[in-house]
Amino acid sequence: MRIVVAVKQVPDTAEVRIDEERGTLIREGVPSILNPFDEYALEEAMKWRDELGGTVTVITMGPPQAEAVLREAISMGADEAILLSDRAFAGADTWATSHTLAKAVEKLGDIDIVMTGKQAIDGDTAQTGPSIAASLDWPQVTFVGKVLEIDENSIISERYVEGGCEIIKSSLPVVITVLKDANTPRLPSLRGKMKARKIEIPVWGIEDLKLPENEVGLDGSPTRVVKITTPETFSDGEIHHGEPEELARLMVDSLLGKEGR
Ligand SMILES: Cc1cc2nc3c(=O)[nH]c(=O)nc-3n(C[C@H](O)[C@H](O)[C@H](O)COP(=O)(O)OP(=O)(O)OC[C@H]3O[C@@H](n4cnc5c(N)ncnc54)[C@H](O)[C@@H]3O)c2cc1C
Repeated sequence: MRIVVAVKQVPDTAEVRIDEERGTLIREGVPSILNPFDEYALEEAMKWRDELGGTVTVITMGPPQAEAVLREAISMGADEAILLSDRAFAGADTWATSHTLAKAVEKLGDIDIVMTGKQAIDGDTAQTGPSIAASLDWPQVTFVGKVLEIDENSIISERYVEGGCEIIKSSLPVVITVLKDANTPRLPSLRGKMKARKIEIPVWGIEDLKLPENEVGLDGSPTRVVKITTPETFSDGEIHHGEPEELARLMVDSLLGKEGR
């Protein structure tokens, strides 16, 4: 089983600050981490590799410093890593990002499963996994909370949806996006840390992936950030105390606009 896990380096904060003039996230001064959701995808991949044999390859597209998350993934137990980094990749939207990641999967060849996290904690779109599947023309199973079975031809997983769970069987190769319900990620091991320090991580650029300039980075991005703002917060809530019946009546009246009548 050859599994690729796409991981992203993200700012270590849930409160991403926004440069409203440039329409970009402010990354300066914020330490970077491996996107927390990607740890579950990585653990799931390693769990099945340990059971069925095979390899787990981690890939990321980002600036040279994104290599740090690949080394972290190696220290947790991934077998190999590829960094996709090139000036031409800068400014990529989710379409260009996933197209570039998909080309790397094609270049690796004979991959059975691509796993991604549910979403990145900075961009938050949850589009990259499904878009990799579209670019590869592979099936996709999103929001996977549990992988029940994998054999050489298929995968059966539980897909958590609002109010329930769907059990989906898909043929391989497939892209799955993994929820944090799936597992408990392992910690880096001493052996893993030693390997992470020494391993050579290949860097693939636009020429390695044989991609034209108009399919990567800003030039290859059909979306444009027109405006980006921090949502307004409202703090004028009211707190009422009293008996449940009285409070329920108050709430219903307030929802119906009968307050004070
Ligand atoms: C016009 C435009 C310009 C942009 N310019 C920049 C820019 O200059 N620099 C920048 O950092 N961002 C930029 N972005 C944001 C960038 O497009 C997104 O961060 C990226 O496409 C991933 O989307 P997301 O963060 O919503 O991830 P999601 O789709 O929420 O991520 C889901 C999963 O996909 C995988 N994944 C996501 N991104 C990557 C990645 N890069 N490598 C490997 N796996 C990944 C992870 O497993 C992740 O859990 C730009 C966006 C737009 C629209």
